[in-house]
Amino acid sequence: MAKKKKSSDEQLIFLPLGGSGEIGMNLNLYGIGDQWIMVDFGMSFAGDHFPGVDLVLPDITFIEERVDMLKGIVLTHAHEDHIGAIPYLWAQLRVPMYATPFTAHLIRKKLAEVGLLDEAEIIEIPIGGSFSIEPFDITYVPLPHSIAEGNALKIDTPHGTIFHTGDWKLDASPQIGMPACEKTLSKIGDDGVLAMVGDSTNAFSTKSAGSEQDVYDNMLELVSGLKNRVLISTFASNIARVQTIGRIAKETGRHLAIFGRSLHRVTEAAKETGYLKDFPEIMDEEHVMDLPRDKVLVMSTGCQGEARAALSRIAEGQFKKFSLAADDHVLFSSKIIPGNEISIGRLINGLIEKGVDVITEHDAFIHVSGHPGQPDLEAMYGWIRPEMAVPVHGEVRHMTKHAKLAKGWGVGKTLVPKNGDIIRLAPDGPVKIDQAPYGKLVVDGSCIIPADGEVMAERRRLLHHGHLVVAVALDRNGDMSSEAECVSYGIPGWQEGGALEDRALDIIEQVIDNMPKQKLFDDGVVDEAIRRAVRKMLSLEIGKKPIVQVRVLREYDD
Ligand SMILES: [Zn+2]
Ligand SMILES: [Zn+2]
Repeated sequence: MAKKKKSSDEQLIFLPLGGSGEIGMNLNLYGIGDQWIMVDFGMSFAGDHFPGVDLVLPDITFIEERVDMLKGIVLTHAHEDHIGAIPYLWAQLRVPMYATPFTAHLIRKKLAEVGLLDEAEIIEIPIGGSFSIEPFDITYVPLPHSIAEGNALKIDTPHGTIFHTGDWKLDASPQIGMPACEKTLSKIGDDGVLAMVGDSTNAFSTKSAGSEQDVYDNMLELVSGLKNRVLISTFASNIARVQTIGRIAKETGRHLAIFGRSLHRVTEAAKETGYLKDFPEIMDEEHVMDLPRDKVLVMSTGCQGEARAALSRIAEGQFKKFSLAADDHVLFSSKIIPGNEISIGRLINGLIEKGVDVITEHDAFIHVSGHPGQPDLEAMYGWIRPEMAVPVHGEVRHMTKHAKLAKGWGVGKTLVPKNGDIIRLAPDGPVKIDQAPYGKLVVDGSCIIPADGEVMAERRRLLHHGHLVVAVALDRNGDMSSEAECVSYGIPGWQEGGALEDRALDIIEQVIDNMPKQKLFDDGVVDEAIRRAVRKMLSLEIGKKPIVQVRVLREYDD
């Protein structure tokens, strides 16, 4: 009988299926022989490229096809780009999940919402705790980030240690959780690290991420000097910021109200897992408007201009329980996520038109990033001193910059991965050795479909070109038994009974009249001839080529 290979004889593989080449949708796989672990299982938000769609998920075909080899899913933290795919795709894998308490709490809530909570095994690991998924020995290494319980993973393998940073920053006073422990990180470096696989989001930033304490100090001074109502909008998941805003309400003698479902949900989760201990009482939404204007501080969702979020509805005067008037103040304690500029601009314009005073991070120091700038990265490389750097969590420009920086800080080997690259980290890595299937899925209504499939392509065509449906009835001789009928959607210049429709009807008649008799009995031929002729006419007349759909009806009187 062949001796079973020792795991140190097998290659150590790294395979990102999401998050390498984009910010969002993080999914990383590590494998040795037939033992695989997944690190993070995230989603991203759909932009204009996927009309009608909100969420984008990674294509997990590769690991689904060998799911018996997948031994566990390890979640670094609770941001949507790291856990958001779980309610949609976990049921296809059904392997145990590992997370620290706050992250585990939010995962449970997500699974409960889709009725999967009883089926999933979630193994809660204490902060800083270790566990084993053979042949990987894994330790959570707490790092500050813009959510409670940011974590790196120290993954010990028979080939050496991987330091998978997760999302992180340096912050001497993070308000929630502890600062990065230099001693722990240096010790990891002293023991030797094969590869650091890490966050590239802010690789272009020459400044350190900045401290939550400074946000508190600045925002306190700012709010202390403001009269009338103050509304502060921030990311719901940023527990440290939620804490900061709560403290400011207390310090400035204002009552705190919270508007927005996700803020309530995350605040509750934070309290249930032991955070937000000295948080002020949240006041009843019904009575906010009864208070004097300078006794109110509202925290709300919607800092990215999301149409359905509380702030947009307040700005439009469509929020029943609260309204803003001239000389009230709105603070955006957040950054503009690329892609959201237009919706945020629209929101700010709406507020300013009402006479509301708008303050963003450009006007005052009221936001810090959750990701490492260059000084933070340099410090981390100084502690960890890996043999190789594998930047992830970034577009290709961020990852390439990160790799160059790492080289400059003395890291011998770097590799910039792309989603789907099967990379051997050891022995003799890093090197791409193969290609896995990869891609995106979109959540469209209650369906999960390929992002690059026919449905999305058709949806975009419909959106951009308009749509014309033509019905033609032919009798047993192949003659038109009545005038054709047209129904149009989104075609410029088209009116029922108008010139363009007349023109189309003429052309349809001509096509039928000019067609050789025997071909008139082939639906496919008739359909294609009409479709081509009508599209050509529309292209000439209006400069657009709508989708034209032809239905040939056969009307035989017996
Ligand atoms: Zn994050
Ligand atoms: Zn992230």
